[in-house]
Amino acid sequence: MVFGVAGVPTNYKGKFEGVFPWLKSMGLNGFEIQCTYGFKISEDRQEIIKKLNGEFKFSIHAPYYINLGSLNSQVVARSKGNMKQGIELAKSLNINRIIFHPGGGHENTPQGRDNAINQLIAAINEFTAELDMGDVRIYPEIGGKTANLGSLDEIIEICSRCKYCYPCIDIAHLHAREIGSLTSKEILKQKLMQIKNAIPDKFKYIHFHAYTIDYGNKGEIKHLMHGCNMPDGRPGMPNLDDFVAVLKEMNIEPWVISEALDSQEQGAKYMHDLFVK
Ligand SMILES: [Zn+2]
Repeated sequence: MVFGVAGVPTNYKGKFEGVFPWLKSMGLNGFEIQCTYGFKISEDRQEIIKKLNGEFKFSIHAPYYINLGSLNSQVVARSKGNMKQGIELAKSLNINRIIFHPGGGHENTPQGRDNAINQLIAAINEFTAELDMGDVRIYPEIGGKTANLGSLDEIIEICSRCKYCYPCIDIAHLHAREIGSLTSKEILKQKLMQIKNAIPDKFKYIHFHAYTIDYGNKGEIKHLMHGCNMPDGRPGMPNLDDFVAVLKEMNIEPWVISEALDSQEQGAKYMHDLFVK
């Protein structure tokens, strides 16, 4: 069971190493390292992470500029190199989950998306064949905007055709890109069953991001604070109680990271406490 945060929460003030006891005091044991601007972690932090690894479960979020589905072959080549760097970094720290965005920049038509997904899959299969992956798994994440690659079907397809890919299901992104689809526990369960049926061997290593989100007709607008209502006054969506209930009903071993705006630890604690109740 892993419940945790994405990066050092803004509510935490203090030294990096102090964030872990602070999270632990809330029952949390997950930390997704945000390599937003590059697969770089200072030596000091690497030492801290190595010491805590095991007691804490670490994952790494790849830089946002990685774009394996781009139409620009230079961007793809650079992204492949970056991913290889990230995999070596993960291996050296004994971390076995890297989360990345499939990207965009393709034509947003069925044909354009197909081409981009095929290219992305070819790129992934190339760079993963060129190095020893150890036990590192790489996780394409559901994209929040309709124009992004990373629909549920696309994530399933990538995971079906790439040996080392596993699904990162960001339920907020899924809800946003499908313009508010996760309106009930049953629908959420159906979506997860769809993944389980398509890629059963990979399902048990599923990775989640869960928080509430504001969206419009192009998908994601912004992450919301934990416990806050939607701008129109409805309770925050997707519903985290439903999400935790589905985890339990489906006997999923959870690895859940909260990306709630300025309140990740509160969102993670909320889901953790519901899960263990
Ligand atoms: Zn992400």
